[in-house]
Amino acid sequence: MQIVACPGCGAQVEFKSHAAVVAVCAFCRTTVMKDADAVRDLGKMSAVLEDFSRIQIGSAGVQGGRGFTVVGRIQLKYAAGIWNEWFLLFDDGSNGWLGDSSGLYTVTTELAASATLPDFDAITPGRCYDINGERFTAAEKRRASCIGGQGELPFKVGDGWQARVVDLRQGGAFITLDYSDGERPQLYKGVSVTLEQMACQLLRDDEQIRATAGKYRGRVEALDCPSCGSAIHYLPGVTTSLVCPSCQAQLDAAGPQAQILASGASVEQVRTALPLGASATVNKVVWRVIGAMTRRDNEGSSWTEYLLYNTTGGFFWLVDSEQGWRRSSVMATWPQWPSLEADHVELDQASYSKLFDYPATVTWAAGAFNWRVAAGDVVQVYEFQRGQAALAAELSADELTWSRSTPVALDQLRAWFGAALRGDVARKAVAPAGTRLASRFALWILGLNAIPLLFNFSGTIFWVVLAIVAIYLSEHLFGAEGS
Ligand SMILES: [Zn+2]
Ligand SMILES: [Zn+2]
Repeated sequence: MQIVACPGCGAQVEFKSHAAVVAVCAFCRTTVMKDADAVRDLGKMSAVLEDFSRIQIGSAGVQGGRGFTVVGRIQLKYAAGIWNEWFLLFDDGSNGWLGDSSGLYTVTTELAASATLPDFDAITPGRCYDINGERFTAAEKRRASCIGGQGELPFKVGDGWQARVVDLRQGGAFITLDYSDGERPQLYKGVSVTLEQMACQLLRDDEQIRATAGKYRGRVEALDCPSCGSAIHYLPGVTTSLVCPSCQAQLDAAGPQAQILASGASVEQVRTALPLGASATVNKVVWRVIGAMTRRDNEGSSWTEYLLYNTTGGFFWLVDSEQGWRRSSVMATWPQWPSLEADHVELDQASYSKLFDYPATVTWAAGAFNWRVAAGDVVQVYEFQRGQAALAAELSADELTWSRSTPVALDQLRAWFGAALRGDVARKAVAPAGTRLASRFALWILGLNAIPLLFNFSGTIFWVVLAIVAIYLSEHLFGAEGS
């Protein structure tokens, strides 16, 4: 370790990692550069936004048999929110990065590229690329800017520093190509991880987070819509994209103040089968509906998707369509999908057959989401099925996500939600002509938050009636407008 005196305030600034080029003074936020034997002052670094992360400088854990300590952090903002890249110092002196995005984590280390890597502009999410002799599917392209930093970092960053990264996946393996320094990317390879798997220590607990944020992580809080004043319930630091249920204004709640991104379009309110705030008790764990949206395909069928959250379990979805209810979650381990045209995908040595693909358009949204959603958003959905289980890929110009769903019986829903389930919101008894036979579940863009569910869905089926559903009204309404 090397210790220098901060040129700004005289405090001790530590360089634990040999690879660190700069360190941000913990007291005055001066960016201190270690330049040969001299120390230079590169100016003040912006404070990081309080984002409720459990990780902090000094957190430690074990990954791949090697112990690590978190020594630095950059915080990045892109269109859909903010995320952290924590700079790791392994016990053997090498370095890595812990990606921390909305409660999902990856650990990667830098690798030399064995062959030419594709250009940033040439990469399209959903397409496959050869990276060091292995085939990976492009998952996400992001342009982001650095909004703050802490601790030791291996390169100079400052306000406005721009990052261009592409994430690729194959099964549970993860690649990041970082084009921030130019056309020739740096290659990082790793895996999806959880803090528990890595036996992480010195994490921030609820009280510490509350001390800096004034709020508990993962507890539902209310803020007043800056547009109309209505209370909107959300999860500080977790669901940063809000759609006001009253006035439909789009809000960004990533910062200390909610910002209006777009004022609300005057759309008819949708009365959904499950209201925002409804809670479900599943195996003694309480889940809450925090967001809802309706989507429509190119044949005019529509369905409603509900985002449910629990502090420890993360997110899952309930999807209410003409074919009944399904629950769905985002997948961290992806199926093998040879190409967009393939009629099968493979997952865990099982083959899923393609049913169809179609564009899905958001027609209405309300509540809190962990990605940015707005009416008019369109993705291409590819559905695959094996028995009762279905897999769906959702593809946009920027992102590909995979989700898995299984049916949920109506009596099961009643048991979970009780009286919160609005039995009077009835869907059309007969599905319109041209309705596809398979489930119309689907998940939304943003492949984060694939936190495994902690319960199973066994239950006796008493009800055979597709009686419930919010969409009758909205379908009627939007169907009329769209024709
Ligand atoms: Zn200082
Ligand atoms: Zn409002």
